[in-house]
Amino acid sequence: IKIKITKVDIPVAFASAFEGEIIRRKDMRVEFDGSRVDCVELVQTKTMDEVEDHKITVVGPEIDTFEPGSKHSLAYLVEVAGKKMQPDFEPVIERKFHNYINCIEGVYHTGQRDMFRIRISNEAYEAGFRAKHFGEVLYTQVKNEFEAVVDKCQVTIFTDPAECTRMRHEVGIPTFDKRDARLETLTDESVDVYYSCILCQAFSPSHVCVVTPERLGLCGAVSWLDAKATNELDPNGPCQVITKERPIDENLGSYEDVDEAVQKFSQGALEHVTLYSIMQDPMTSCGCFECICGIEPFSNGVVIANREYAGMTPLGMTFSEMASMTGGGVQTPGFMGHGKHFISSKKFMKAEGGIERIVWMPKELKDTVAERLNKTAKELYGIDNFTDMIGDETVATDPEVLVAFLTEHNHPALSMDPMM
Ligand code: SF4
Ligand code: ZN
Repeated sequence: IKIKITKVDIPVAFASAFEGEIIRRKDMRVEFDGSRVDCVELVQTKTMDEVEDHKITVVGPEIDTFEPGSKHSLAYLVEVAGKKMQPDFEPVIERKFHNYINCIEGVYHTGQRDMFRIRISNEAYEAGFRAKHFGEVLYTQVKNEFEAVVDKCQVTIFTDPAECTRMRHEVGIPTFDKRDARLETLTDESVDVYYSCILCQAFSPSHVCVVTPERLGLCGAVSWLDAKATNELDPNGPCQVITKERPIDENLGSYEDVDEAVQKFSQGALEHVTLYSIMQDPMTSCGCFECICGIEPFSNGVVIANREYAGMTPLGMTFSEMASMTGGGVQTPGFMGHGKHFISSKKFMKAEGGIERIVWMPKELKDTVAERLNKTAKELYGIDNFTDMIGDETVATDPEVLVAFLTEHNHPALSMDPMM
């Protein structure tokens, strides 16, 4: 017999009313920040005898020992077992952590995978909230919400920095890479349906992601396979099937079916959305995009900035400044939030000419996507080592210097049609 747990045993309140709560720097006791130190959140499927139900372990110091206002590593591993559990469901459970942790009064969470950020407020800390309580929240919510597939659940919280580094690099990243590789064989043309995702409507009420095999959700955490699993786990849940039987324009990636779906799921706020254009009816952005691309008029190209990059871009804006004009569930032609993985997709702004338009990226991002992006450029345009033609902050953060660099490297965007 399964017992449904209704109360979460933590010293602060737990309710969806706290989901949109923001904790300012001056009000925070401690911060965990995956863009600066090693953090990771992960679900793993185990056999029944490998999991001790409701076991919660903290590996490393409790937050009492942290300096007020300081930044730390954090990793949490949720191990689940159940007869009907499938590894395909792991990322779906993981993606709910954002929502669970945000429901804690005085705790704030953004991002996912190894790029999340959590803040604990002074008030929550003073009420007695500690790292072990993350375990309590995750255990209770996973058991509640995934009772159809999870029979046993145990949670390990790592605060020890060396353990967080090991968890991130040896466990988390290889798992994420393996999941991403499974998608590689699928194309938008090879599937019969796409999926909607409205998980982010708590923050951005009119935001709808349309998830396709070649275009994952802008958070980077919801692939087409994840959306499919979400729909299987919860047919009335955040991911719904979108048929693609009535194409309007294949190059733009516009469909009557997609338009109808976004109209419905945005409660009428959106009318038309294209899958492959950043200029014409681009998809909306919530707040959790991994990257933003924005039009760079001097080079006919686009600049991409990722969340981890704190410096300046050739647009004269930082990532946060670009984010402030892109988010909130509205359409902003010329600017678009997207997942990192989308950068090497054959569908990346295909309507405007595709990845050939990319003229600048932070060096670290460029290095991360280089292998896949170069492969796509070779396949689509026969270009070798395309990333060598793309500028970064070590080359230029000024548009004129960038254009000189692009000219010297014979970047294809310079001879393409203007985007505006
Ligand atoms: Fe879903 Fe999109 Fe939010 Fe990701 S960003 S959780 S795909 S709505
Ligand atoms: Zn979001």
